[in-house]
Amino acid sequence: MSNSDFEAARLTVRLGAIAENYRICQRLAAPAEVTGVVKADAYGMGMEACARALAAAGCDTFFVARLEEGIALRPIVPGSRIFVLDGAQPDMVPALIEYRLTPALNSLAEIAAWSAAAREMRTALDAAIHIDTGMNRLGLPGNELATLAAEAGRRLDGLRVVLWMSHLACADDPADRMNVVQLDRFRTALAMLPPAPASLASSGGILLGKDYTFDMVRPGLGLYGGRPQSQRPNPFKTVAQLCGRILQIRRVDVGESAGYGATFRTGRPSTLATVALGYADGLMRALSNRGHGAIGGQRAPIAGRVSMDLITLDVTDIPPRAVELGAEVEFLGDTIALDELAAASGTAPYEILTSFKPRVRRHYVSGL
Ligand SMILES: *Cc1c(COP(=O)(O)O)cnc(C)c1O
Repeated sequence: MSNSDFEAARLTVRLGAIAENYRICQRLAAPAEVTGVVKADAYGMGMEACARALAAAGCDTFFVARLEEGIALRPIVPGSRIFVLDGAQPDMVPALIEYRLTPALNSLAEIAAWSAAAREMRTALDAAIHIDTGMNRLGLPGNELATLAAEAGRRLDGLRVVLWMSHLACADDPADRMNVVQLDRFRTALAMLPPAPASLASSGGILLGKDYTFDMVRPGLGLYGGRPQSQRPNPFKTVAQLCGRILQIRRVDVGESAGYGATFRTGRPSTLATVALGYADGLMRALSNRGHGAIGGQRAPIAGRVSMDLITLDVTDIPPRAVELGAEVEFLGDTIALDELAAASGTAPYEILTSFKPRVRRHYVSGL
């Protein structure tokens, strides 16, 4: 990275807001333990900084997707529990043990591999066991659950089950019947199995209420400021702010075009501002002629196509003194919420957060 103070674009990550969102989850889910889901580089916000902020807020249990993510997280939170959602394929077992990672076992075959490792080491190994209640993605399917319940003593030999978990498919919509279906299936499964702590809810599930929070909750999106359910106001604080700076401003006549393909045409004498952000920074091309940037809290529409490095705004209606060379334009943050950017981009907030590219430098601030 250069030593220059000038940065054309930056992603500011408010670590204080992540800590506050962790505490909000604690209030909503109490007395359940709140863990931190830091997979995918903490939803693009940077795993190391986010995990440290969460640990300082009292988080002592983390979830990652990949083994590699668990290995990277281990030195950052040396004493904490780290669950690996991908599970335990046989060739993952040695590294899981070496880095003291706890797999979320997804099948009888994975349970057998982990149990064999425990017997070989003549020690007990901790395990989470993921039960599929309707996602049909990861976790024990119904027939394997029945076998496990019938032969629990033998199948779980050498294992200490520290968590029974499942995952909701439709927690973003409290009216969806799938939520109660999965809750019922999870309760039925727990009643068949040896007692251990249980976890069903991610961010959306936390907002479904106390029936869903069990002993442990697994928020990701909410910690990073996302709105888990679109029908409700967002209880979480904004974490990410994406800004680019104005590189050029010009007055153009009626009937002029802007950008590749000349897809934008001025219907009046206009002022256009060219901003240093593009799809190579993670601002999606689908925003072409759809999204907005905000200057000093005022929205200006995107004029024409988003290109690799640049985006043009129609700033005709913004007071001229706010539109200065070098001024920062926000595309995500306090004015343009994550939801709004995701909707204009035609995707989910999860994909927006995990799309920011390395060219946009992350700035960590401790405040809210
Ligand atoms: C990603 C993930 C979470 C976190 O979900 P959010 O909707 O981001 O809160 C929780 N549990 C599992 C199994 C996941 O894959």
